[in-house]
Amino acid sequence: MQQPILVHALMDTNLQQIIDRLSKKYDPTIALDYTNPWELTVAVILSAQCTDKRVNIVTQTLFPFLADSKNVPTKDWNTVNKIHNITRETTQIATTAYMEIGTLEKLIYATGFYKAKAHNIQETAKLLLSKYNRTIPNTMNELVSLPGIARKTANVLLSELYDKSEGITVDTHVKRIVQRLHLVSPKKIGGTIQATFKTNGITQSDYFKNASPEKIERQLMNLVPKKYWKNFPHFIVKLGRDTCTAKKPNCSACVLYELCPSKRDI
Ligand code: SF4
Repeated sequence: MQQPILVHALMDTNLQQIIDRLSKKYDPTIALDYTNPWELTVAVILSAQCTDKRVNIVTQTLFPFLADSKNVPTKDWNTVNKIHNITRETTQIATTAYMEIGTLEKLIYATGFYKAKAHNIQETAKLLLSKYNRTIPNTMNELVSLPGIARKTANVLLSELYDKSEGITVDTHVKRIVQRLHLVSPKKIGGTIQATFKTNGITQSDYFKNASPEKIERQLMNLVPKKYWKNFPHFIVKLGRDTCTAKKPNCSACVLYELCPSKRDI
């Protein structure tokens, strides 16, 4: 059987050209709908293993429910009421902290892994009330100590809420596409399960499915100038959704076609 050709990071890949082309086509805004920091926190927790589109459908019902103080049990609402300056966001955090967990599970069911997500969201809400004065923390260490917040999620929150770039968000699209673009070295990202594709009758390595997001992030942080850390993943995620999909990349429609070492035959 023909062995797949291992990819090597192409240090001469023109990253600036990649960023320029992507920025002409894609808007670098996050695809999750939110109106305050707690809504974003809930949305990013729900987005694990779920599409942003589905999360937005679920939160259309969830966020107004959380904002309605009638949905907090009366005795608990009296406790929360002692807090001054009750905003829509405070009400949402309080509802989340005190509501029946089964109700929360039902509301977020369609995003998958609903039991774990409901537990993490509720425990985070409780911590915001008891420890963080109803404010999403603004440091990586504090954020990753919250239930359901991993480094990827924390990066999103820091950049969206506080315009802080402490890292580069590596989700499933970034993980796959930076490998296809040969921006990271396969020897340094810890993957073992290799996807391949055929082009001109030759089998080529496509990407390592189980590569480590943390290792990929470290390599990207060495490569991508810090001023692009926030926007770069947004561009790549949008490319991954509409063109460079996992199973069938539409290379003929891709703005990176000429620059991509993994392009398929047109
Ligand atoms: S040319 Fe194809 S493989 Fe390369 S980034 Fe574009 S869609 Fe993905």
